Order: sequence, then structure tokens, then C-alpha cells
Amino acid sequence: MSEDTLSQRLHALQTQIPPHVRLVAVTKQVPVPVIRHAYALGLRDFGESRVQEAQAKAQALADLPDITWHLIGHLQSNKARPALHLFPWIHSVDSLPLAQKLDQLSQDLPHPPHLLLQVKLRPDPQKYGWSVPELLAALPALSQLHHVKIVGLMTILPLGLTASERQQVFSELPALGAQLQPHLPLREYSMGMSDDYPQALAAGATILRLGRCLFGERPQETDFVS
Ligand SMILES: *Cc1c(COP(=O)(O)O)cnc(C)c1O
Repeated sequence: MSEDTLSQRLHALQTQIPPHVRLVAVTKQVPVPVIRHAYALGLRDFGESRVQEAQAKAQALADLPDITWHLIGHLQSNKARPALHLFPWIHSVDSLPLAQKLDQLSQDLPHPPHLLLQVKLRPDPQKYGWSVPELLAALPALSQLHHVKIVGLMTILPLGLTASERQQVFSELPALGAQLQPHLPLREYSMGMSDDYPQALAAGATILRLGRCLFGERPQETDFVS
């Protein structure tokens, strides 16, 4: 992709994104020189689905001091330790055992990680995440975790919804967050990808995770695996 295209796409997006919304540029399968260009254009938050791929990129970009890496793909608990060392934000916390393991490992970290709980607002066997009843049941245990900051909720929509259905489903995420607030101080809603970010913004997203609408199509899909 030409560098001008990235800059044009970014500028077009920036006119649509309010200043309080954080844009996470999803760089899975995006080569390091393109990430460098995105950095030069002002982007600082980058999202990756796989710990190993992100480690290699972070190493290659270690001269850029103020990148914030976000883990957005499923995390296997045996990779929790390296994930915590790389990612100050983990959007894909999808089970109580994983949350507890992250909490335990975070005791020794200088800064507590920001965690988001990945919620399935509709049943979807293809995806990881808590159903709403599962999340409600886990609340007492989650509110005992003191070495991590559980700051928000993340969701990925099922395919095949109309635009108005998308906005309707997305709007359930901040509503759920408000319902959980007595137990967890939730304020971040990570929702919206290239095909549905306008509806996510309309429904109250505070973080967008955008890949293809910045960097173009990926050669092959390896989503949701870490
Ligand atoms: C790949 C991915 C994205 C970005 O998707 P695009 O359609 O490229 O914008 C966002 N969130 C998650 C969890 C992803 O795996």
C-alpha cells in the first residue's frame, strides 16, 4: 500500500472520530515499515491478536518509545506472562481463570495492566467471550482482583446484522457496563471494527479497533487465535 493511501485513510477517519475516542490501529499481518509510517502519522496505539507476532514487532520498533500495544485476540493462559510484559492493555479477557491468572502475575509488575472483559452480546460459537449471565456470575470473583485494573468491556458483533441491528446490539455494551458499575469501575467500551465502527460510535464506543480501513485487506484471516 502506498504511504499516501494510509495518510488519506487516516485523515478521513479522524474527521469521523470524536477526540475522546481512542483509535487502536490493528496491525496484525501489517509489516513493520508500515507500522513505522503509521507512527510517523501520529498513531500511538496498536492492536495485535497474537503474542508472538506482537513481540517480534515490538522488538523491531523498540526505538519508538511511546507506543502502547493492545492485545485484542484470545490469550492462552500459558502466554499470560509474556503478554503482560508487552501489552498494557488486554481487551480479550474472556474467562475467570484467565482474569485470575493475569491478576496473580501482575503482582510483580510496576504498573497494573488495563483489562477489558470480552462479552458476547449474542450467542456465537465461533467466538470467545463471556455471555452476560456468565459475566454476572463471575462479578464477585472479578471484584476481588486488585493487581489489575478492569476498566471496560469489549465486544465483537456476529456477522449478518443490518446497520440498525448493529447499533442496537452495540448499545447494550455501555448499558451492561453501567449495570456492573457498582462492582467494577468500567468506563471503556472497545467496540467497532472497519465494517461497523459508525454504529459503534453512535452507540457509545470509547475505543475503536480498526485494521482494514487503515491498512487495506489482509492477505489471510487468522483472527481470534493467539
Ligand atoms: C482483526 C481485528 C480487528 C480489526 O478488524 P478490521 O475489520 O480489520 O478493522 C478488530 N478487533 C479484533 C478483535 C480483531 O481480531
